[in-house]
Amino acid sequence: MGKPTGFKEYARETEPYRDAMERLLDFKEIYTEHKEAHLATQGARCMDCGVPFCQSGDGCPVYNLIPEWNDLVYNERWKEALDRLHKTNNFPEFTGRVCPAPCEGACVLGIHEPPVAIKNIECAIIDKGFENGWVVAKPPSIRTGKKVAVVGSGPAGLAAAAELNLKGHQVTVYERDDRIGGLLMYGIPNMKLDKGVVDRRVDLLRQEGVEFVVNANVGGSGDNAVSVQQLLDDNDALLLATGATTPRDLKIPNREGDGVHFAMEFLLKNTRSLLDSNLEDGQYISARDKNVIVIGGGDTGTDCIGTSLRHGCKSLVNFEIMPRPPQERAENNPWPTWPVIFRVDYGHEEAAARDGSDPRVYSISGKEFVRDENGKLLGIKTVEVDSKFQEVPGTEKFWEADLILLSMGFLGPEHYVSEPLGLELDQRSNYKADYDVFKTSAEKVFTAGDCRRGQSLVVRAIDEGRKVAVAIDQYLSD
Ligand SMILES: Cc1cc2nc3c(=O)[nH]c(=O)nc-3n(C[C@H](O)[C@H](O)[C@H](O)COP(=O)(O)OP(=O)(O)OC[C@H]3O[C@@H](n4cnc5c(N)ncnc54)[C@H](O)[C@@H]3O)c2cc1C
Ligand code: SF4
Repeated sequence: MGKPTGFKEYARETEPYRDAMERLLDFKEIYTEHKEAHLATQGARCMDCGVPFCQSGDGCPVYNLIPEWNDLVYNERWKEALDRLHKTNNFPEFTGRVCPAPCEGACVLGIHEPPVAIKNIECAIIDKGFENGWVVAKPPSIRTGKKVAVVGSGPAGLAAAAELNLKGHQVTVYERDDRIGGLLMYGIPNMKLDKGVVDRRVDLLRQEGVEFVVNANVGGSGDNAVSVQQLLDDNDALLLATGATTPRDLKIPNREGDGVHFAMEFLLKNTRSLLDSNLEDGQYISARDKNVIVIGGGDTGTDCIGTSLRHGCKSLVNFEIMPRPPQERAENNPWPTWPVIFRVDYGHEEAAARDGSDPRVYSISGKEFVRDENGKLLGIKTVEVDSKFQEVPGTEKFWEADLILLSMGFLGPEHYVSEPLGLELDQRSNYKADYDVFKTSAEKVFTAGDCRRGQSLVVRAIDEGRKVAVAIDQYLSD
């Protein structure tokens, strides 16, 4: 334990983001530099409570050894902290940036004080590791001669590839997009996760022996199609880690036509254009000078807000069908469960800094998109709803909009890969396989990540990737 009285002496202080108005001028990461002395003090707040709920089921999904590295950071033993961190998490540079940190919701200190700033410490350990050249490729010393094909290069596919490669199997990752990373690359925007950070890790995996094939649409049609049957025949096991990519639509009148887009189309095109040409090729949906409405909250909604503001939108509103969450945990949401409370994410903070108020409107639902006689989008009619999502009479309202972004969650994976394999699906149309087993109804075929469990978190995808690798390794060893 670092400092027995640390939690009494020091207050929680997280690392600040860059100034909101300044960061709106670019797509660079929102974070400021880590300060070692500050983080050592924050590490000293860890109570070494004996039963670390932060690394339990309610806390960190990969069971990061949090109290151990808090102590090591407090004692300035950063290299050892890095070794402990890599034992449980293949990609702490991703989670240290984008994880909502359920660990902090489950921190024992959090019962009566603000929790330890775990996520900041995690990010600093891995960033320092890269800065000092401690993170290097470690190719396996033996090869088993077994081949595994992974379909999908998001965090689940990458974590599985890393672990299977470590065990000596030859892994090839197939990705239908033109860059590797799944939603790490084309979902989460650059200001939250710099794409150089993703490429850096992919390069390490390449040096360790993982092969990557981009523009490979497995089970699809057209020039970049790759046959699923061929992959099955050529490999000893096949892993589907294709994500939950089917967006939920808002099927109200006048949906069809210009101006209404799924969030992922907006975000993907923006990042691709940013990486290809610094937005000079014009191959993205611009929010510049537009009245923008984002329908739906969560990370995706926030990312649409942050991106629209960076384009220079004229106005911005964010609709949320749910009521505004409470400031503090509700009675039915006790510690150590994830606190469902009102939060101000980076995009909300930026909107408030620019426009003077938080952009969110709660308990509201879209009734009808409004278009002129040429089909041009004019806005949307809405109605307020109660806690059971029933319409409140007399609350109809018209909102002007030139661009409406739909960010209402995802319905599960697409099925053109699972159909030729005849895979059984679960009730929510995900590929059916039990957690910890990860075996689908088809011989040699495994599945992990959002396509198995539904849209979730990067850290959960990493967890599933690591666990499916164990299951596949066992299958290959039988
Ligand atoms: C906009 C957005 C922001 C998010 N922000 C956060 C956040 O801040 N923090 C957080 O923890 N989580 C966040 N999430 C959730 C998180 O990104 C996902 O839970 C996670 O990426 C899932 O990982 P995965 O590997 O299962 O799938 P994905 O990351 O979705 O990757 C699946 C990959 O499979 C590829 N693929 C699909 N079908 C085929 C095929 N037939 N052939 C070849 N390739 C195929 C896809 O192109 C994709 O690259 C966010 C999600 C979105 C949409
Ligand atoms: S991965 Fe997420 S839950 Fe786990 S320690 Fe890091 S921030 Fe916490």
